[in-house]
Amino acid sequence: MKNIRSLVRPNIQKLKPYISARSLCQEKGLILLDANENPYGDGFRNRYPDPLQETLRKKIADLYSLDLKNVLFGNGSDELIDLLIRVFCEPTADSITICPPTFGFYTVAAEINDVATMKIPLSAEFKLDVQSILKTESKILFLPNPNAPTGNVFQKEALEKILKNFKGIVALDEAYVDFSKSPSWVSRLEEFPNLVVLQTFSKYWGLAGCRIGMVFASQEIINTLIKIKAPYNLNNLSAQEALSALERVESIEKNAQVICSEREKLRKQLQMFPFFQNVYPSEANFLWIECQKSWEVCDFLKQVGISVRKYTDEPNFLRISIGLPIENQELITA
Ligand code: PMP
Repeated sequence: MKNIRSLVRPNIQKLKPYISARSLCQEKGLILLDANENPYGDGFRNRYPDPLQETLRKKIADLYSLDLKNVLFGNGSDELIDLLIRVFCEPTADSITICPPTFGFYTVAAEINDVATMKIPLSAEFKLDVQSILKTESKILFLPNPNAPTGNVFQKEALEKILKNFKGIVALDEAYVDFSKSPSWVSRLEEFPNLVVLQTFSKYWGLAGCRIGMVFASQEIINTLIKIKAPYNLNNLSAQEALSALERVESIEKNAQVICSEREKLRKQLQMFPFFQNVYPSEANFLWIECQKSWEVCDFLKQVGISVRKYTDEPNFLRISIGLPIENQELITA
């Protein structure tokens, strides 16, 4: 494993970051004439947010028994995926590795940055091809865990082998981890300097509309992300929503338990339909379904008012998110 600094693009290593007014002065109680803000307002909406997001970073760091220096927030994990590519991948020279079927945004973010994508498909049982992954010389391996859209969790031993031997960054995207029985890899950051864990407030925490993504990594990686992020990338309103969700963890956990029990119930019910060849076990809040007539099923459901996800790249599969119990019942009835 090379040291992390040597993986960072040379221009980012040299970059002098933008210095915002609020990063120069955080003192409370001053007359603020330093950021060209509008003085009329409630002091919350009219003022720029804390560029270092300290309150929320501290809260989340405490929750995971980490230091604030190992955490950063973004405008959804989508922003953090893009930032990771921009930190590590030189346009037209470097690549990322993905293991399809996987989350579609990794490739799009790479393409936007003129970075190539190496594809090492999963096996028919959705297992990782560790040997082939280790042969790629990509700067970043992106792996959702639980995987999206297949819903399975990857074997711990396979991930350990990758983390020990992959020469670049291993970004484990845990968007769905709170619906799974498997623990987060956040607790293993110290063991693997190349490990980056992504999480989000969009799924378990129910705040997809607020755009709050989280990245957990070594202090060195977090500091480099801070260097290149837009100064005020987490807005005051979203940060407030995240803090308030953290106060409601019991009701959020109850909802997640309903989602998980509905997932198991729906899986059994959907398996009874002869036009579904397989409804795979899932540790996320969706089901991955093999269906030779996926487009017909999807189009029919749309006509009766239910939208499920079809895939151009995987024409024999459908993905169905777990809804409210009444919505899931309507799906079965339809
Ligand atoms: N990662 C995975 C695996 C996802 O499925 C999604 C959203 N569908 C995201 C990241 C994006 O999350 P966010 O809403 O935080 O941008």
